[in-house]
Amino acid sequence: MSGAGPELTREGAEWISPATGARWVAVIGLEVHAQLATRSKLFCPCEVAFGAEANANTCPVCTGQPGTLPALNGEAVELALRAALALGATVAPESRFDRKNYFYCDLPKNYQITQLDAPYCAGGGVTLGSGKRVRLERIHLEEDAGKSIHDQGDATLVDLNRAGVPLIESVTHADLASPEEAVEYLQALREILVYTGASRADMEKGELRCDVNVSVHPAGEPWRTKVELKNLNSFAHVAAAAEHEIRRQVAAWESGDPALEPVQETRLYDAERGVTRTMRRKEGEADYRYFPEPDLPPVTVSPARLEELAARLPELPAARRERYQRELGLSAYDAGVLTASRDVADFFEAAARLSGEPKEAANWVSNEVLRCLGDEAFEATTIDELPVRPFDLAEVIGLVKDGTLSSSGARQVLRELLASGGAAGEVVERLGLRQVQDAAQLEAWCSEALAARPAVADEVRAGNEKAVGALMGLVMKASGGKADPRLARELLLELIARGG
Ligand code: ZN
Ligand code: MN
Repeated sequence: MSGAGPELTREGAEWISPATGARWVAVIGLEVHAQLATRSKLFCPCEVAFGAEANANTCPVCTGQPGTLPALNGEAVELALRAALALGATVAPESRFDRKNYFYCDLPKNYQITQLDAPYCAGGGVTLGSGKRVRLERIHLEEDAGKSIHDQGDATLVDLNRAGVPLIESVTHADLASPEEAVEYLQALREILVYTGASRADMEKGELRCDVNVSVHPAGEPWRTKVELKNLNSFAHVAAAAEHEIRRQVAAWESGDPALEPVQETRLYDAERGVTRTMRRKEGEADYRYFPEPDLPPVTVSPARLEELAARLPELPAARRERYQRELGLSAYDAGVLTASRDVADFFEAAARLSGEPKEAANWVSNEVLRCLGDEAFEATTIDELPVRPFDLAEVIGLVKDGTLSSSGARQVLRELLASGGAAGEVVERLGLRQVQDAAQLEAWCSEALAARPAVADEVRAGNEKAVGALMGLVMKASGGKADPRLARELLLELIARGG
């Protein structure tokens, strides 16, 4: 770790200084901006679309022209409420918008519409695998700013497509104790947002951005100054930045030099060099001259509406994982893989139901189907883009169960279906994968094998049943791999027992 001082050793959540033997603990809190999955912006009808031509999705409202008025997007409120309910937060019957004033070229109004004193919800949280509860302080609604593009020689370009895009900002208490816990929390939060449809939370498109507050103190002592790491857009960066910052702060405190002590500030993470550096000394709320937004009425939410929204919430990932283990007998690991995204979980459940074989369906989905995602040969990034539907997988599972297909034949059929679609039965015939179950044909191959290796029969009769494997090899070879191995094996043992 360059510039981070001496290496610290880790013992659980404690960071131990080899120089002094001191045991340091970290305190971490997260502020996450998630983009709501609306069609249009928060206060105007402009389309929300990633990758559009610069400034194509703008209008007088989101470019801050004089005389325009914002009008709140009902879909954004609906999605924000869904996220709040899924996170167990308490929704305020009335919330209000405020103006956060600052000047920057990507903020044409010179203020951001956000919620300061009366956010739309408070409380709630996420439970980690360890059982630890990470509490949410609040969630508020706000609009995004535009984007400044600095890499154009001397010029800075401004793209306002993102200006006015709806966000929810969720703020945790400082309940997290390690970079690993921070990442686990983010994964759980992201899952919930995606499951409820509140956000697509695609980090590569900037739909989930994270600020990390970090401080360190010797175990058992009071908390010390916190530092904010701004705008981290991948889980790996969150973990690396938090770890670097913990090491940097410990080294700074241990240096004993007051000039090096951590100060309250905002730092940026430089992913290329793996270090954080000062961006600005932290502004206080006063610097933003917050005041109530006069152009928007309060947002009111009735208990009846909340009840209706709660009734329509999907089953959440943690509940699904628990059910898969309890009802379907899956391992915790398999349940985790299958629930990592909602469309995969839905696909698996449909295949399990249609085939009546949940464990088989789980194996095929996690081993074969998911492997295709992200594999360039298949051109699919989500399970719904694959040409295979749950019905097809159930059919393949059924063909193995009734002996039509061997497991390797089934794998071939599924790969063919994954690559080009079609019907399982037709693919079995086209690829000639149907196993031979015809008794007379099987007997001919078995007799031939016995004649070729008569000594094996004696070995089996002497009690070594495993020796039959040598004959199975001959049968499979003679049949071109198509003999039903279960039937062939039974038949070989029967013929040997009969002395033939
Ligand atoms: Zn607009
Ligand atoms: Mn914010």
